[in-house]
Amino acid sequence: MTNHRQIIIRGGRVLDPEARSAERVDVLVDGNVIIEIGRPGMGAPEDARVIDAGRRLLHPGFINAHTHGHHGLDKATGEGWALERSLAVLPWINADRSHEILKLTATLAAAEMALKGCTACYDLNLGLPSPSAEGTQAIAEGYEDVGVRAVIAPMLADRTVFEATPGLMSALPESLRQQVTGFDKTSAKQSIAGLRHALDHWPYDRDRLRLAVAPTIPLHCSEGLLMACGRLAREFDTGLHSHVSESKIQALACLDRHGESITAHLGALGLLAPNFTAAHGVWLDRDDMMRLADHGCSVAHCPSSNMLFSNGLADIRALLDAKVTVGVGTDGMRSNDNENLYEEVRLASLVSKVQTPAPEKWLTTEEAYFAATEGGAQVLGIDGIGRIAPGFKADIVFLDLETINWIPLNDPVNQIVHVEDGTSVDAVMADGRLIVENGELTSVDVGLLAREISAARDRMGCLHASDGSVIERVLAAVDAHCSELARRPYHVHRYGAGLDHAPEE
Ligand SMILES: [Zn+2]
Repeated sequence: MTNHRQIIIRGGRVLDPEARSAERVDVLVDGNVIIEIGRPGMGAPEDARVIDAGRRLLHPGFINAHTHGHHGLDKATGEGWALERSLAVLPWINADRSHEILKLTATLAAAEMALKGCTACYDLNLGLPSPSAEGTQAIAEGYEDVGVRAVIAPMLADRTVFEATPGLMSALPESLRQQVTGFDKTSAKQSIAGLRHALDHWPYDRDRLRLAVAPTIPLHCSEGLLMACGRLAREFDTGLHSHVSESKIQALACLDRHGESITAHLGALGLLAPNFTAAHGVWLDRDDMMRLADHGCSVAHCPSSNMLFSNGLADIRALLDAKVTVGVGTDGMRSNDNENLYEEVRLASLVSKVQTPAPEKWLTTEEAYFAATEGGAQVLGIDGIGRIAPGFKADIVFLDLETINWIPLNDPVNQIVHVEDGTSVDAVMADGRLIVENGELTSVDVGLLAREISAARDRMGCLHASDGSVIERVLAAVDAHCSELARRPYHVHRYGAGLDHAPEE
């Protein structure tokens, strides 16, 4: 039997972002590593499998710096929702998620990413009520089945949004207050013990599937939990990831509670280090950005989510000027509704252009592309991904140059950032394995996945139906309180038209 341990990819155009070109080359892959790139027709082992890429553009698999795989059942359910509204329903929608559902939703997220040219992600998955070895491994199995790399970080918290948001609990009618204080919360000790157990029993190769630590939102965690998260990440030499200054309300709430900004608070507790990723970072000021840069931290930029959840427009130019590493993230299905990095990269570029008329402040196409590739690799902390080069992992996306997006082929970097939308993805190689061929997943049966997801969605819907009127009343109170709170003055302005600080009409 022929062993195709080696693969020679013939004649593909490999994107060179610095040269802004895509010359034809041959790429030799051995196992899961690119070992040689040379002129078309270069020598290759006789028994190597040959892939004809004559009509393909090759780019390194995109890297999604921030998502939530477990939100897969919630696609298109949060129209007109602000972040705090979404956080308020979490105790209901996150309840009763079996390991089977965690695996299914991870599979769904991985499948969408693979089909849309993404081969690695940072997934802040469900860690409630307490992360377990079985639960985290179920999520890993979903990614393993599809073949997408993942840093899986169970989200930990020991406070609800009702406790973390100034005045929110007292703004609820008495009857609802009792409902939301009745949530069964996990103690910091239980959460850390659960995650430590999961880390101790992690069976996977860390370059493919890694377990990390996600204190979900700093104000949703006690200081004890935050410090314990920092210690755990250091002990297991893994990543720390948290939603930092995502909403104006979070930035205001931290000043109210601690008299300092969120990054100052995290810094004082010892969490800021090169393994720390701040998701969103919309309401960071200059001092926050310098603090993140000084500690070697990275930021996951999620423009779709920031707009959908009415959190504003992050100042990525200022972060890049401060020398903060930036990756691009889709965020989860509750806050974006898809897992399409092409769309996110395009928005990262476009959003920068409505923030200022000064062209030198705009995100260049190279910067946007870098964020989705090498920037994302740095966020995940995985070496050897994000480039097509000898010694790098064979994570390669093959785009069909005969689709509408590439007629004509002009500037390949510009075209990937501003034209490609995922519809040209013909094949995807991840870790040396073709997980997408002819535009279809080879690793997972999407029809079967659709039936299983649909059944799971129906089961979850039935579970929550009885709470419907309570949820609606809670949400009405949250909306009224939080939209008022977000109008309080803050020294950073991130809303598109500055309406948060304009006088009332
Ligand atoms: Zn998020």
